Amino acid sequence: KLHNTILELKGNIRVFCRVRPLLSDESSGTDMVVSYPTSTEALDRGIDLIQSGQKYPFTFDKVFNHEASQHDVFIEISQLVQSALDGYKVCIFAYGQTGSGKTYTMMGRPDAPELKGLIPRSLEQIFQISQSLKDQGWKYKMQASILEIYNDTVRDLLSSNRSSGIDSSRTENGVPVSGKHPYTIKLDVNGNPYVPDLTIVDVCSATEISSLLQQAAQSRSVGSTQMNEHSSRSHFVFTLRISGINERTEQEVQGVLNLIDLAGSERLSRSGATGDRLKEAQYINKSLSCLSDVIFALAKKEEHVPFRNSKLTHLLQPCLGGDSKTLMFVNISPDPSSTGESLCSLRFAARVN
Ligand code: ADP
Ligand code: MG
Repeated sequence: KLHNTILELKGNIRVFCRVRPLLSDESSGTDMVVSYPTSTEALDRGIDLIQSGQKYPFTFDKVFNHEASQHDVFIEISQLVQSALDGYKVCIFAYGQTGSGKTYTMMGRPDAPELKGLIPRSLEQIFQISQSLKDQGWKYKMQASILEIYNDTVRDLLSSNRSSGIDSSRTENGVPVSGKHPYTIKLDVNGNPYVPDLTIVDVCSATEISSLLQQAAQSRSVGSTQMNEHSSRSHFVFTLRISGINERTEQEVQGVLNLIDLAGSERLSRSGATGDRLKEAQYINKSLSCLSDVIFALAKKEEHVPFRNSKLTHLLQPCLGGDSKTLMFVNISPDPSSTGESLCSLRFAARVN
């Protein structure tokens, strides 16, 4: 039986915190840097961060401790994912410093089925439920696109142009541009932003999408020497558009599911940035603070929401306002050396919560 955490909406924005376990090479030292009540369910919303003997308490919609499995996490979001089939626009973000568990949470690990993250789990569920709704007359059409935003430049991760390599003589914001032209954001007749020429693939099964995800992972590493380095510096955006029509009732729905693995949130000083690294870090800082501004303005129901201040928020604009649903995971590393970054992440998340 599914939990109803998400659907007891007091607003459309939720923040979940997930603390990953210590990795084998990390100090399992005596000083606990995070503490959270583990005993009763009523208490699983609080987390304390301890820095230099000082305690910083935070409360979120849900806190997952280091023992939470991928399944435990998915149980809490599955209703939200399912609402995309009912015509809702859904965004799920993973925010946190590099190494805090964003990709583990979103994609998971390929080694074992139980380590699958919420992207594959969500897609399996969507296709499974859409199949079962056939009996009630529902027919769905699904389309996927996968892009990344690097230095505020959109890159299509499913473009076949990319397989011929990147033309490094053409750049935008210092990024080699593949294909004929850089991807821009345009407005359609309804004023909704879209990316002309972005590859959009009709999909009929979770298996098809998993091969698209593999293709995207390959394109992502093209033109960058270190895949991990690069992926931690760009925002990864998976989008599934769902059009449903009920042949009996003629009811129509248009849902969107966006699953976003954000660039690492670590601050400049720590990455010791100069040159290109400095520029990347500045783009990341700016886009993450734009995202925070947008979510904050939406949560406060402010009249002006600064969607256009970054490509990420501009692109996601139709899926962030109105009756759309947003969930932000803030991923936290329990390693004592990450306490400063963890505090920053928790504060970021507390602001948008
Ligand atoms: P990020 O994407 O934020 O840079 P990763 O998801 O790559 O971080 O996680 C860093 C490391 O920690 C990886 O080796 C990953 O497998 C491991 N890890 C992250 N979260 C968990 C978790 N909840 N349980 C077990 N291992 C995890
Ligand atoms: Mg990652």
